[in-house]
Order: sequence, then C-alpha cells, then structure tokens
Amino acid sequence: MSGDPNGVGLRHEIDADGILTLTFDRPDSKVNLLDRATLQLLDEILEALARRDDVRGVLVESAKPGHFLAGLDVAVLASLKDAYEAAQGARQGQEVFSRLATSPVPSACLIDGACFGGGAELALACTFRLCSDRPEVRIGFPEVRLGIVPGFGGTQRLPRLIGLKRSLDLVVSGRAIRADEARRIGLVDRIVPTPRLRREALALLAAGARPGARDLGARAVRDLIGRIAPLRRLVVSRVRRRVEARYRPSDYPAPYRVLEAIEAAYSLPLEPGLDVESRIVGDLVPTRTSRNLVVLFEARGALRAESAEIGAAPRKVRKLAVVGAGLMGSGIARLAASREVPVRMKDVGPDAILRGMRGMAEGWADAVRRGRFEPRDAARLAAFVAPTIDDSGISRADLVIEAVVEDLAVKQQVLATVEERISERAVFASNTSTLPIEEIGARALRPERVVGLHFFHPVDRMPLVEVIPGPRTSPEAVATARCFAMFLGKTPVLVRDSPGFLVNRILLFYLNEALRLLGEGVGIDAVDRAMKEFGMPVGPFGLMDEIGLDTLRHAAAVLESAFGKRAGSSGSVLGALAEQGRLGVKSGRGFYRYRDRRRIGTDSHARRIVGSPPRRELPLETVQERLVLSMVNEAAVCLEDGVVREPRDADVAMVFGTGFPSFRGGPFRYIDAEGVPAVVDRLSRLADAHGERFRPAALLREMSRESRTFYRER
Ligand code: NAD
Repeated sequence: MSGDPNGVGLRHEIDADGILTLTFDRPDSKVNLLDRATLQLLDEILEALARRDDVRGVLVESAKPGHFLAGLDVAVLASLKDAYEAAQGARQGQEVFSRLATSPVPSACLIDGACFGGGAELALACTFRLCSDRPEVRIGFPEVRLGIVPGFGGTQRLPRLIGLKRSLDLVVSGRAIRADEARRIGLVDRIVPTPRLRREALALLAAGARPGARDLGARAVRDLIGRIAPLRRLVVSRVRRRVEARYRPSDYPAPYRVLEAIEAAYSLPLEPGLDVESRIVGDLVPTRTSRNLVVLFEARGALRAESAEIGAAPRKVRKLAVVGAGLMGSGIARLAASREVPVRMKDVGPDAILRGMRGMAEGWADAVRRGRFEPRDAARLAAFVAPTIDDSGISRADLVIEAVVEDLAVKQQVLATVEERISERAVFASNTSTLPIEEIGARALRPERVVGLHFFHPVDRMPLVEVIPGPRTSPEAVATARCFAMFLGKTPVLVRDSPGFLVNRILLFYLNEALRLLGEGVGIDAVDRAMKEFGMPVGPFGLMDEIGLDTLRHAAAVLESAFGKRAGSSGSVLGALAEQGRLGVKSGRGFYRYRDRRRIGTDSHARRIVGSPPRRELPLETVQERLVLSMVNEAAVCLEDGVVREPRDADVAMVFGTGFPSFRGGPFRYIDAEGVPAVVDRLSRLADAHGERFRPAALLREMSRESRTFYRER
C-alpha cells in the first residue's frame, strides 16, 4: 500500500485479492487534476505493475464525492513553451495511458462525478467504464474550448469505442454528457448506484477480463458508417461544413484539427494515429488562439477563487425574492429555481406577472428542447418560483434582486418598500445596467445592504455578472452577491460604481461609433459584416436590435450626461427610432426588419431617420479600426479610472459579457498583440481625422513611452 507522501494526488494499494486500486485525491482541492507529478507517479505504478504477476485487476477511482477527474491542469498547458514541448507532453501522456490500455491485466474506471478531458481519456484507456447514477456525473472532451484537441489518446480511442459520428459530435462541440447518454452511446458499460460501483466493477474484472465478442460486435455495428470509407467521408464533410459555418480556421483551428485526428483513427493503426494526435497538439498549443483561451480559462478560475475567499462571510441565500418579472427578473428567477432556491417573484399587476410566468415557461421548454433538463425535472424546478403581486413572502428573503424598469425614482421607491419588509440582514441587489448604486441607495435605511448585481441577457446563457459595491456597501453584502452569483454558475467581476459600470460603458462607445459610421453613409450591413469578420458574434446594429432601442436609449442618456461629448449623442438617434415603434427584434423592426424574430432585411427607413447621407463605401479594415479602437481605448480609460482592478478582469468581462472574440483574449490581450505603441499611433491618427474621442488614453501613452505591456508575454 502507498499513501500519497509527496502529495501529488494519487494513491495506490494492492489488496489480498490482487486488485490494484488507483485513487485520485488531490490535496486541499475539491477537484482532481492531472499534472506532471501525477502522470509520472501513474507511469511508475503501471511500470511496476508490468513486472508483477500477482495482480489480477486494476480499479481507477476518485476519493472526492461527486467528482472523478477534471483533466489536465491548465497550468501545465500554459507552461508549454513551443510546439516541440507540447507534442512531447502529449506523447508522454499517451505512453502512460497506453501502459494501462495494453496491460494484460484488465482495468475498470469508476466514474462517480465530473470526468473531463484527460480524465475521460484515462477512462478510455481502461478495459471497462462504469458510472454511477448521481446527477453530478458528466463526461466530456472540452479541449476545443482551450483551442486544442484531446492529446492523451482520446481522438484515437474514442472512435474505436463509440464510432465516428458520436465521436465527432462530442469532441467538436466539447459538450459534456450525462450518465444515461454515455451508456446509450456505449461510452460507459454500466450505470450502477454509487455504493455498488466497486462491487460491480470487481465482478466485471473477475468474469470477463476483456470485453466479450458481443460487446465488440455491438461496437462494430455502432460504427458501420465509420468503417465504410465513402460514408465516412460524407459524414466528415457534413461536420466540416457545420464547423465552417461557425468557425474560421484562422481564428479557431481546433475543431478542424479534430476532424483530421479522428479521420486518422480510421486510416491508421493506433500507434501512428497517436503520432498524428500529438503532432496536432504540438501545432495548436502555441497558437495565439489557444494561448488566449487558456489565459481566459485561468482568469475565470482565478476570479471565482477570489470570490470564494473574500474576507467577509457571505449571507447564505436560502430564499430569494425578485422584484420585476420582466425579461431579466423572470430569467434570474428561473436560473435560481434551476438551482433549487425558492423564489418569490413580484410584479405590479396580474398581467405583468402572467407575462413573466409565461416567459419562464417558454424558457423551461427551450431548456428541455436543448436537452438541459428532463421534462419531469423542469416541471419540478418550475414550482420553486411563487408569483405575487403584493409583498407576501418577501419578508423571508435573504436576498432581494430588483429588476424593475431602468428608472432611478422607481428603483428608489422599490427599495424603500422592500426595506420596510425584509430583515435587517437581508441584502438588496439591483440589476441596473447603468444607474449608480450610490444613487439607488441614496435614501436607503440600510445603504450598507445595497449592492449592484448586474446580470446579462439572456440570463441563463451569459456567464458574466458585474458586482458593484456602492460607497457605503458592506463587505458582507458584496460577499453575498459574489457568492450567490457563483452559486448560479456565473463568473463575478468586481466593478467600481460609475455610470454604465464596465461592460455597458465600453459597449456604448462602440455602438456610438457604429451610429456615427451610419451617419456618414456607411451601410448597416457593411458595418455589421466588418465586425463579424473581426470575430464578434453579431455586428453592432444587430446587437442594438437585440438589446432593444428603447432600452439602449436610456443607457445612452445616462452615459451622455456622465461623459459629455466624448460619449456621443446616440440617445437622440435611438430615441427617434424608438418613437416610431422601431424597438428592434421585439417590435419586428429596428435597423433590420424581422419576421417571427428572424431577420429578413435592413430597414431603409432607419437610414432616413438617422439622416444618413448617400451610401458610402469604406474598406472593411477602416470600419473595424474605428469600432475596435473606440472599444479598447475606452477599456484603457476604465482601467485608468479604476473601474476595474486589472486588465484581466476587463478581458474576462468583455469576452463573456459582450462576445468580444475569445480567440483574441479580450481588449487588453488585443492591445498587447497589436503592440501598445502601434495602438497609440493609430488612435492618434484617428483623433486627428475624426475628433478628440479617439485621443489615446493617458495610460496607453504612458505605457507606450515606457515600453510596457498589460500582460507578461505568453
Ligand atoms: P422589462 O421592462 O422587461 O421588465 C421590467 C418589469 O418591472 C416589468 O414587468 C414591470 O411591470 C416591472 N415593474 C415596474 N415597476 C415595478 C414595481 N414598482 N414593482 C415591481 N415590478 C415593477 O425590463 P428588463 O429588460 O427586465 O430590465 C430590468 C432591469 O434590468 C433594468 O434595470 C435594466 O436596465 C436591467 N437590465 C436589462 C438588460 C436587458 O438586456 N434587457 C440586461 C441587464 C440588465
């Protein structure tokens, strides 16, 4: 028996029956990870195993309840210097796992929770895979999300086990699947309740040693398509077309390389197939895309860890109240209900509350359609929200989230009413997108309990929230907001209380520039196309239509009064459009026209209302330059003003709050990549040509003079 004297997170023990148990248990951590030390120890254990003849079987398990193995520690990925090191790293991991896969001794993997990346590849190297029926079980290969492909044999062993189509689906999407789907597609052999996992595995090891002829036959049938070359080519080209529709190979090469690696599993024997895989890992790890995705992944992890370790104790949210059952309120209520938090949702009258409940029902139905919930679970969770039009039930809430209309007087009034009813220790969080928290809490009885908690639309899908302490907010209220956001699965970014906070402020400068281009005669679709080329998921005009021109006009007005001329005058343009009923997607017309929420063309009236002169063509790069630089310059001004603490926070916020292309890593990674002096030069030229709004932020000029960068090079 060996404990884990060096603390590498792996123990092993051989019992009297000759069963070697490998137990992953990373010290001081809720999750298990593979790193150089764990892989090395695993290699040594398996090497020693090959020299023994008293071992009859191997069990691989985790000591952490509800968790198996989250894969390779990204710090290892981040530390790889070049293609050679990366390919070598993959090769070494492959060799360790191959020792297990080729051992004459059978092995079984007990998956009792999350099992991702390298963890799932370790499972593939075992003879048998069993998983428990607990809801935490998720299996997936998320490597493409870090800009790489599975590198420890996953691209070669997965198709051999579950076939071509399913492998492509799992690895290209990076999605995680539950136990029942894993069983259905043959990724695991059995599902058994946790207490019986070990016993069942031992029985399998004793009885079969190897998958029987029936199992192998079933695998062959499952993969008829993969085995017939013309059919295989057809499937791969279909998936390639889907990949092409979503990702440009220069921006996101990994999904394309997944196709190549999985195809190699059919055209080559295992060993040369593994070579192809490690070579592809070597190609991808040093790319800008993978570097940026890894930095963002680490940054999100760090932000969550910091939120969990704030000095003050958060208040546990056993009951939540949401005031305002509109788009945002109903979304927040539904998200909390999906985590089994009882919610009291309030609105002004029966019509409004019914609208909110209907919106939620549609949200649940959509989540069921997308496979996120079983219909039975959705129905059970929906019952966690109790609607009200008076204040019943609100007094018991630990946290009240206000999501009423964006109007200071209304928000202050709601706060006053709520404060009369809730306990002194309850926290009041406003979902305002622009109004200073200080002003919302100006007349509060307990301003120390008032905090900003800014979710983004659509609430269930946007991973970011901004947490905004007012000048008098207590650390406990901030801790409560941050921890509750994390509990809902969000990444909280701490932002200083100022108009528009971080994300909306930067966004507004960007949208303003788009409106200016339109005012100069550049086409709506030309502007949107340019930004999609840059990598944004939608162009600025499409985005404005989605947000709603009425909503935006209020936000623009707040920023214009705060930042004056620099913030432009888009409020009046948006107001003119809104007054004509052009509200965007929700009213069927805005900058574009819509039928059933689908875009059917641009709205020529919009150009007229904006006063756009005859159409003028500008090169795509010019459009991009003006829009992108207006955004990144304002990000620098925000950093200078202390709106965010560090570049990392702004990069995470812009990528996960606005869709700034993740392969570019965020505004500050972008500035570093372009070079600070080059960005300062370009901004100065734009300022001379188009006005002072482009004058480079003082911080950028200073950094350029001192040859500094925002990040240490990676
Ligand atoms: P909405 O118009 O869809 O919903 C607002 C709801 O508040 C309505 O149902 C209204 O009846 C209700 N309401 C008004 N006064 C009330 C009162 N006194 N008591 C109870 N309910 C009241 O608006 P929304 O888009 O959900 O926005 C709500 C808040 O969230 C705003 O502060 C907005 O700035 C912010 N926000 C919006 C978005 C977005 O994309 N729409 C994103 C982030 C934040």
